Amino acid sequence: MTVLIRGGWVLAPEAIADGAVVVEGARIVEVGPYADLVARYPGAEVHGSAYDIVSPGFVNTHGHFSEGLITGIASDYTLWEWICALINPVSSHLDRGSAYLGTLLSGIQMLRSGVTTANDMFVCHPADDAAPVTPGVVDALEELGLRGVLSFGAGDRGGRSIGRQVEEHDALREAVASSTLQTFRVGIGALGGQSDEMFAASVEYAVGGGHGVHIHVQEIREEVTATFERTGRTVVGHCAHEGLFAVPTLAAHCVWVDRADRALMAEHRVGVAHNPVANMILASGVAPVTEMRQLGIDVGIGVDGAASNDSQDFLQAMKSAALLARVHHQQATAMSAREAWEMATIGGARALRMEATIGTLEAGKQADVVVLDGTGPTLANVHDPYQAMVFVAGSREVKEVWVGGRASLLDFEVTAVDPGEVAARSRPVAADLVRRAGLPHLSVLAGSGSAGS
Ligand SMILES: [Zn+2]
Repeated sequence: MTVLIRGGWVLAPEAIADGAVVVEGARIVEVGPYADLVARYPGAEVHGSAYDIVSPGFVNTHGHFSEGLITGIASDYTLWEWICALINPVSSHLDRGSAYLGTLLSGIQMLRSGVTTANDMFVCHPADDAAPVTPGVVDALEELGLRGVLSFGAGDRGGRSIGRQVEEHDALREAVASSTLQTFRVGIGALGGQSDEMFAASVEYAVGGGHGVHIHVQEIREEVTATFERTGRTVVGHCAHEGLFAVPTLAAHCVWVDRADRALMAEHRVGVAHNPVANMILASGVAPVTEMRQLGIDVGIGVDGAASNDSQDFLQAMKSAALLARVHHQQATAMSAREAWEMATIGGARALRMEATIGTLEAGKQADVVVLDGTGPTLANVHDPYQAMVFVAGSREVKEVWVGGRASLLDFEVTAVDPGEVAARSRPVAADLVRRAGLPHLSVLAGSGSAGS
C-alpha cells in the first residue's frame, strides 16, 4: 500500500509549501510538492490536508516508563529528596504487569504529543528471585506502535546484587531482539548508584557487547561533589577514564557540566538529553544547552519521567526548551522555534546515533511522521510553520502519528488501545502500588483507590 501524507507545510527539514510525503511499507520513498506526487501515485491513500503541518516525528531522548503509574505526586522536592521519598519506595514493587500498564499510559500521552521514538530508562529494584520486569515495556510499546530505545537503570546500592542487575539487562535485551521497533541500551541509573564493581560490570557489558549506554549525568551539583570525593573526577571525567564512552552514550540532563566536561563530551561524541520541565520542577538548574551546541554536541529534548515532569507531553517540553533558554540568557534570540524543533527531531536522532534512519523526512528513512491539524482555529493561519509548531500548537492539534509506516494515531487518537479502558485498568494497580510502597501520606489516590477496589 502507498500512503501519501499531505501538508500545507512539510518540514523535511526545509519547509515545502503544499508538500507531501510518500510512504511505502515502513519507509519514506519520496518527499516533494503535493501536486506532483499525487499525479505520480494516483492509487495512494491520501492523509493530511492542504492546511496541516507535517513534521518528522519527535524523538523523546529521556524518560522513565517506570513512573507511568505515579504521576503527579511528590513534586515539591529536589532530586535526592524526591528519589528517597518516592522513587526508591516504589521501585521494589514494580513487576512486568505494572511496567506494561505504566508504559501504556505514558506511551499514549507521548503519541498524542507527536513522539515517535522514546529513549527510556526503566528504574526498578526487583528482588533477587523476582521475574524480569522490563519486558513489560516492550509488550506495551509493540502494542502501541511506538519506537523505543530501551534500557534498565541498573544500580546495586541498598544491598541489591550485581547478578540480578545483569539478569534484568539480559531479559530486556532478549525481549527487544524479536522486535523491529525496539532497540536495547545498557542503563546506568547514575554513577553514584553503582559500586565500583557494578560500574566496571556495566562498562564491560556495554563495551564487550557493543551496546549503547543511557545514563544520568551531573543533573545536580551534589552529584558532582559526591563523585569528585569518591573518584577525584567529575562523572563525565570518570566515565571517560573508565572507557564507557567507547560506545555511543546518551547522557541525560548535564546541568552541571563545566568547560572541561563539555570538551570531553564533544571529543567522545556523547549525546545529551535536555529535560527543561523536569529541571524546573526539581529546581535542578539550567543546562548549558547553548554552550554544548556551540561545541557541536548533539542535544535532544526529553520529557523525563511521569513523576518528575509530571506531564508526558512532548510539545510542552519542546516549547519549554526555547522559553527556558530565553529567560536564562534574557535574550529572545537565545533559542529560536526552529532550533527547538531541530533539537526535537534530528538533534535527538543524532544524540541517539539514529540519524541515518529517523529525524528528517527523506527517502529511505523510516516513515516516522507527525501531522498537526491546520483545519481548526489554533493553526488556522500559519505564518511560520516552525513557530506555529513550537509556540502555538498543543497536543490537541496532533492528528496523525506514523511510526515505521504504521498509523499509531489517527483522527486524534491512538489506534491500538482504548485509552479510557487503559486508564480504568491502571487505577487499582496504581493505588495498590502506592499503598504497598507505603506512600499514602504523599497521595490521596492510595486512600480513595484502595477503598474503591
Ligand atoms: Zn531521568
